[in-house]
Amino acid sequence: TKFSDLKLDPKVLKAIAEAGYETPTPIQEQAIPHALEGRDVLGIAQTGTGKTASFTLPMITRLGRGRARARMPRSLVLAPTRELAAQVAENFDIYAKYTRLTKALLIGGVAFGEQDKLIDRGVDVLIATPGRLLDHFERGKLLLTGVEVMVVDEADRMLDMGFIPDIERIFKLTPFTRQTFFYSATMPPEIERLTNTFLQGPARVEV
Ligand code: AMP
Repeated sequence: TKFSDLKLDPKVLKAIAEAGYETPTPIQEQAIPHALEGRDVLGIAQTGTGKTASFTLPMITRLGRGRARARMPRSLVLAPTRELAAQVAENFDIYAKYTRLTKALLIGGVAFGEQDKLIDRGVDVLIATPGRLLDHFERGKLLLTGVEVMVVDEADRMLDMGFIPDIERIFKLTPFTRQTFFYSATMPPEIERLTNTFLQGPARVEV
């Protein structure tokens, strides 16, 4: 498979070609077609497999088909740590370079001011750690009722860090009609239960 065989937005194809990506990794090859069909994806994959692009590329493609500018966030990516969230944000910037999609990185350890400003201005994509996302929500700054695509990355690390109740709460703040991409390196029972509750007929891809 070549990237051009996948029905990704031409703007995304241009950006990844420029980034030097030649062929999709196995997780990308397996997950992207299901994701582009609108299905939920349960990805069982470790870091280093190219999993970030496997959800970000179809997410950008889907958002690109919608309206030009969002007032409410249309996509939410949750990562367990500030560093991981920042990495997803860096990747998003590379892949979305030729689109007009905007993002905000919502992580702890920095003042609310700049993050508030971005939210008020209106962004398409939120990339966040669960605690900071809920902080913004509780401050009345954020509505998640416009979320079309939600990503949970590194769910087993979320479990280790005690974030599962936060994740459940955040799921319930988003519309039932959303598309969900859920990634974990392992599938302990608590994670399996979470996916049974919040994913709808997911395509299960494992590398
Ligand atoms: P990840 O597993 O998402 O953390 O990605 C691991 C690394 O592989 C990142 O530095 C990506 O930029 C890179 N990468 C992801 N997909 C590809 C690809 N198809 N070809 C080349 N490099 C890639």
